[in-house]
Amino acid sequence: MPKLAAMSSTFDENRSAWWAAAGARGEYVPAPALSKDLDCDLAIVGGGFTGTSTAYHMARRFPEKRIVLCEARLLANGASGRNAGLLLNWVNGVETTDLELARRIYDVTRAGIDALATRIREQSMEVPFRRDGCIEIVTDPARAEAAARDAERLSSAGIPVRFVTGNGLAELGRFEGALGATFDPTAGQIDGVCLVRAMRPVLERLGVHVHERTPVIGIEEGETITLTTPSARVRAKAIVLATNAYTPRVGYFRSGVVPLHSHLLATEPLAPEAWEEIGWGRGLAGFSDDFDRIAYGSMTARGELVFGGGSNAAYGYGFGNGTAYRGDPTRAIAAMEKTLHRYLPKTAKVRIAHRWTGAVALTLSRICTMGVQGKNRNVYFALGYSGHGITLANLAGEVLTDIYSGDDARWRDLPFFQQRLLYVPPEPFRWVGYHAYTALTGRSPRRSL
Ligand SMILES: Cc1cc2nc3c(=O)[nH]c(=O)nc-3n(C[C@H](O)[C@H](O)[C@H](O)COP(=O)(O)OP(=O)(O)OC[C@H]3O[C@@H](n4cnc5c(N)ncnc54)[C@H](O)[C@@H]3O)c2cc1C
Repeated sequence: MPKLAAMSSTFDENRSAWWAAAGARGEYVPAPALSKDLDCDLAIVGGGFTGTSTAYHMARRFPEKRIVLCEARLLANGASGRNAGLLLNWVNGVETTDLELARRIYDVTRAGIDALATRIREQSMEVPFRRDGCIEIVTDPARAEAAARDAERLSSAGIPVRFVTGNGLAELGRFEGALGATFDPTAGQIDGVCLVRAMRPVLERLGVHVHERTPVIGIEEGETITLTTPSARVRAKAIVLATNAYTPRVGYFRSGVVPLHSHLLATEPLAPEAWEEIGWGRGLAGFSDDFDRIAYGSMTARGELVFGGGSNAAYGYGFGNGTAYRGDPTRAIAAMEKTLHRYLPKTAKVRIAHRWTGAVALTLSRICTMGVQGKNRNVYFALGYSGHGITLANLAGEVLTDIYSGDDARWRDLPFFQQRLLYVPPEPFRWVGYHAYTALTGRSPRRSL
């Protein structure tokens, strides 16, 4: 476990456009830090999508249980408050020709987005959220042919994606170099800071004890697990590691997860006419491209264009699983701007208002894992979303609650269920390997299961 002294390489400020917008709406008053020892049934470490969705489902299923959530900084300080907002179907990393499995995965993730929409509506949460679809553009003739064939196959299995070209594509977006795109009409976009913060009163109404500015700095496993925080201890019958990219720093999954710094930029809010000029249609929540170092962007409810990826420069690995970014992102931002201008040349005139960095939890197969471990089977976890976790981390609460209840049959056939993560060597091989591989190939290290 990290000692407090090492916290500076664990946590950094959230500088995202979402965080700034939340700040502009008014001062946030954090939940009190934990100040005295307590006993509970379940202690959740981490206040992002995984932590809040698990607290929500557990508290609803087991209203009699005492549930505590400890967040080191403020809720949504991690990736949940720093992402591009793309609410996507599918489990990243799964490649299959099995149409039954494909439909199963699509149905599960679509139901996850449906459940999130229901939660927002039923709990009257004010969260900017749209669900008009996202596209994956293809930029190479052979890949375009393959994508068109795939879309047809998937659609024959009842998955509602379609391949669009020509005017159909131009209506969604005029992306230079795009030969076509796979359109997923049930994907969307969401403001993660708003969502996680709006969850706090919901959780408190359900009786969850939320503590912010409460880093867990020690975990002692046993039938009862003791969590140490700077001012008090929590004794819990079970815990949930909801710390995603921070998990290796908490002492778990060190050989399975690589925290990767990922940079994003956002424009200032743009008027509808500016979007029109840029060539981004009103009915498109977000896009990504067909490269290994994927470029991706989205349109926020306030009209900002968020953009990231597109080259090696947009990502970085810090020695020793560092999750706080202390580097200089100038080169990364310049490379990202170049890619953005290539796809949407008119964006060259638009001012960039925000630049930020967050940590994604990369697994070698890209597939995440959700389950329970430990001698006493009381350490629950969900992590390793590899940059695609908005849908899955919000679904994780339901999965973990079912595992906790012993009623998890409906998840067992899914690739993330108790997934064993592929081995990533320790330092210094990890650092050298990542940098050598990415420099030589221009790609990110990946292995199939
Ligand atoms: C730049 C970027 C862009 C992304 N874009 C997308 C996207 O467009 N679409 C998509 O689907 N996914 C995207 N992702 C991934 C997605 O945001 C994550 O998979 C998801 O938010 C993970 O949620 P989480 O709750 O598991 O982790 P996090 O949100 O990281 O939450 C973990 C929390 O644990 C806290 N914590 C850590 N250590 C401790 C400790 N010792 N004690 C107490 N608390 C602790 C942290 O402060 C943090 O708040 C992106 C990620 C990044 C960084």
